Amino acid sequence: MVELDSELFALQVPRSGLPGASLAVHDELHRCAGFVQRTSLEKAMFRRASEPALQVTYAIDNAATVTPLLAEVRTENLLSTIETLSAFPTRLHDSEEGLQAALWIRDLWQGYAEGRADVSVELVEHENTPQPSVAATITGATLPNEVVVLGGHLDSINGDGPGELAPGADDNASGIAVLSEALRAALELGYRPDRTVIFYGYAAEEIGLVGSEEIAQAAEDSGLDVVGVLQLDMTNYSVASQPYLALITDYTTPSLNELGKQLIDEYLQMPWEETECGYGCSDHASWYEHGFPVHYVHESNTDESNPYIHTTQDTLALSEGMADHSLHFARYSVAFMAEVAKGTIPPEPECDATRPCPAGETCQAGTCVANGGGAGGSPMTGGMGGGGAGGGATLAGASGGGVGGSGGSPAAGGPPQGGSDTARLGPASTPTSETSDCSCRAPGRSGSAPSAHWLLVAAAYIYARRRTQRSASSQRRQ
Ligand SMILES: [Zn+2]
Repeated sequence: MVELDSELFALQVPRSGLPGASLAVHDELHRCAGFVQRTSLEKAMFRRASEPALQVTYAIDNAATVTPLLAEVRTENLLSTIETLSAFPTRLHDSEEGLQAALWIRDLWQGYAEGRADVSVELVEHENTPQPSVAATITGATLPNEVVVLGGHLDSINGDGPGELAPGADDNASGIAVLSEALRAALELGYRPDRTVIFYGYAAEEIGLVGSEEIAQAAEDSGLDVVGVLQLDMTNYSVASQPYLALITDYTTPSLNELGKQLIDEYLQMPWEETECGYGCSDHASWYEHGFPVHYVHESNTDESNPYIHTTQDTLALSEGMADHSLHFARYSVAFMAEVAKGTIPPEPECDATRPCPAGETCQAGTCVANGGGAGGSPMTGGMGGGGAGGGATLAGASGGGVGGSGGSPAAGGPPQGGSDTARLGPASTPTSETSDCSCRAPGRSGSAPSAHWLLVAAAYIYARRRTQRSASSQRRQ
């Protein structure tokens, strides 16, 4: 074990010891994921002292787009997604159910994307887990090579072992529900971002941020221009008498955290607090590690965090069968998306096939025009133009040259159904010093397993000295 400083320890464990280490960390720290898994001590010691150089100035000036999006997000859709995902016996990264859950999310998002040529939904295969991540990409209309990311993990875990139920309703069906609802609202209203927006359901977060690490590594390798990342992990558990949003201040980017406070003040008009995780406690740390601007908005401060995660009790019952707190995050997500990726929502057509014009007028391009006055032209059916998107930075773009083939069914337990593009992530052909000591394969799978992995673990006592700062509008406590 190596003490990195008074707060953090790097621990070398054999591959076979990972489940036991995971269990111990979860039991002690009650955190998600509990640790960061890296393949070398050098990688485990990542910490960035300075903020990444930002290519954009964050500003709030797109209320015309944010406002209708805020009105579109619905609690019932959040509830439905949480109910469905938490009904899987588990979403453990190397379980069949964990694969099926990823496919279900893929199908849900594909349903939202129907009819949009500028939107693609795909599975992202990984090197270090059989579970795929899910990615939905809305290609930017004017700045397609600049990317905004919204993500949260889709897997779940039970600290008592792989055979136990792991509903993970809060951790993190609630985050996937928020992502899904933000995506649905955006596409329902015909939102066209200027920058490319990618929604990620990350695989295998609970075993040490594995899916997001491979995605962020590929993004760095391909020089992807990511201008802002939002992490959503646990959004529906709240014991506060007055709900608030918590901004995680460590392993995140200060300027994005500042934007987050302004977005909450401007669009949600509810209290926020600042709090610390103490270590890279969720997928945001993967983006942070690779130098991208990232922030993480969480359901509570560390004092009030959900004590039932990674148990059979992490069900919707903890939130009294409601998704009210998650709704705050869905609202936050669409505000973040439309302010950082900017873009527009087309005006509602005045008329279309189902809304005819009054007598004496004809519907032309969504507008009622007096008969005889307008140009003939094509009958309008309400839709907006196709607006085919250019090449842009998609996930495949993110993977760029470093990503091997795609297409056909991956040998590694890939999805049984076809019909979806599959991007394969990871260092397919160019082993680096990093990969040469790790031809990594998920446990139980073929391939030469590395002898040891390094876990970055926060000392338990850091939570006792966490720093909490409240917004001026927060008056929950005296
Ligand atoms: Zn989580």
